[in-house]
Amino acid sequence: MVTKSSLKIALLGSLFVGVILSPLHLLSDTSNPLGPVSPDQNAEKLFQSIPAELQNLDYAIYTSNKNYDTERFNFNKRFNVFPHAIFTPTNAQEVAFVLKSLKKNKLDFAIRSGGHCYEPASLSTGFIIDLRNFKTIQPDVKNEEVYIGAGVESGAVIEALGKLDYAIPTGTCPSVGIAGLALGGGIGPLVRSFGLTCDSIKSISFINANGELMEVTEKSHPDLFWALRGAGNGSFGIVLGFTFKMYAVPKASYLELTFGDSWDTKVSAKVLKTWQTWAETLPESINTQLQLRYVNGKSFIKVVALKVGPDKCTEWEKAFSELKPDVKTYGERYLDTALRWAQTPTQPFQKGKSKILMKPITYDVIETAVNYFENLEETEQKFDVAYDFEALGGAVVKGDSAFYPRKAFGWWHMEFYWDDEVESPHSLWCINEFFTDINFHTSKYSYANNVDYDLTKNWLEAYYGDNVNRLIEIKTKYDPENIFHWRQSIPTKGMR
Ligand SMILES: Cc1cc2nc3c(=O)[nH]c(=O)nc-3n(C[C@H](O)[C@H](O)[C@H](O)COP(=O)(O)OP(=O)(O)OC[C@H]3O[C@@H](n4cnc5c(N)ncnc54)[C@H](O)[C@@H]3O)c2cc1C
Repeated sequence: MVTKSSLKIALLGSLFVGVILSPLHLLSDTSNPLGPVSPDQNAEKLFQSIPAELQNLDYAIYTSNKNYDTERFNFNKRFNVFPHAIFTPTNAQEVAFVLKSLKKNKLDFAIRSGGHCYEPASLSTGFIIDLRNFKTIQPDVKNEEVYIGAGVESGAVIEALGKLDYAIPTGTCPSVGIAGLALGGGIGPLVRSFGLTCDSIKSISFINANGELMEVTEKSHPDLFWALRGAGNGSFGIVLGFTFKMYAVPKASYLELTFGDSWDTKVSAKVLKTWQTWAETLPESINTQLQLRYVNGKSFIKVVALKVGPDKCTEWEKAFSELKPDVKTYGERYLDTALRWAQTPTQPFQKGKSKILMKPITYDVIETAVNYFENLEETEQKFDVAYDFEALGGAVVKGDSAFYPRKAFGWWHMEFYWDDEVESPHSLWCINEFFTDINFHTSKYSYANNVDYDLTKNWLEAYYGDNVNRLIEIKTKYDPENIFHWRQSIPTKGMR
């Protein structure tokens, strides 16, 4: 529970650590005529400055509400932002009402579902429209499809469908919102078998810039349907829910390879090199991740794989047996396998960066990466690090949507986690330093769902490649006044 006094400490701390946490910095991201809220301001005065029709809604959290100080934070506690109010509508009419009022009064807002954005794109010093109450999961086994509300977490989807021996492709962390995941792509343990999360979308329930409810499908609005699947986060409108195609996955096996009890830089380099070659040869039924990690002061490397179907994953033998791994295999119900893959970070402060790799990384970069982990152990750093590689290919290549790097080899995501806010400047400096070392030797593409505000130039091309101009056309058609915006949203024509 965050108390008023701890808020003041957090605020002072944020001023101390500078640009990243400063609410003033975040304010410069917006043009909110109401100005910023600080914990010292009079809540009643602030409340009176909110348009009359938005006061006293029973689906709003105002600064005077007891839970304001917890609800204003996202999953990543690095962002210390004070919105004027958080709206938690329960139906399409309420979403439309709030949106129309904010638009009429020219007030800034952000859209939030699961709150797992890597940067504060779903927070605002104006208002937040939070879709947490859109919690429906309605499977239709006969037609092999499922309606999922924007406020549902990925883990709840895995569980509800897994119990029926069905699945849609989701990500690794169960508390990530299905909405943000699907709108930015969605990479996880079924990605090579069934594609990205967005590739299974059949229709999208959507509130447009005029506050009108639309059903967006390939047939009804092919341009918007294309854009929302890979570039849909907070740029075109508010998504209320999705109908996804779902897949029968009664069985899947899980494989885990580890390589000794203590860190060995040379072995780790060989494992990473071998994994890259192996990942390129796999059938679509096998999905794999290489984990390069530093946790509680110890570095390790691990290969995990999920194979769809009743057979155990034995395909590792030819590639890895020379490296003498410790092997664990489990053949079981998909639901149990997915739970083995699932992971939730426990430290409150985070920073993520990514590369979408069009081809495997070179041996020089492999060496840079593994040497880095040796160094982390030696210098006893206080943060945890996950530099995970996820194989793409397979079904991803067949999809057609705003997710640009369809032919990519893999997704390299780099995450730092730490416990104490005072560690923020050092942790941020460390991840940036590593990224600078590898940046120009890997790929010019980053994953749109790894939002990274350090990308100050060419971030549109980094996320969307050659799709940028088409996305700007579609943005200009559906949101010409740029109502839906955040620091890295799709601009309208003439804004660049
Ligand atoms: C711990 C962790 C693990 C992750 N693991 C994976 C993974 O395995 N695979 C993967 O692909 N990604 C992963 N991600 C990235 C994740 O997919 C993105 O951060 C995603 O955007 C989060 O969605 P959200 O709804 O939780 O976030 P939010 O913070 O609520 O929203 C993220 C963005 O989407 C917009 N948005 C949210 N809801 C809506 C809506 N209803 N309509 C329109 N726009 C909306 C927001 O405005 C914001 O721009 C991970 C992130 C974290 C923090």
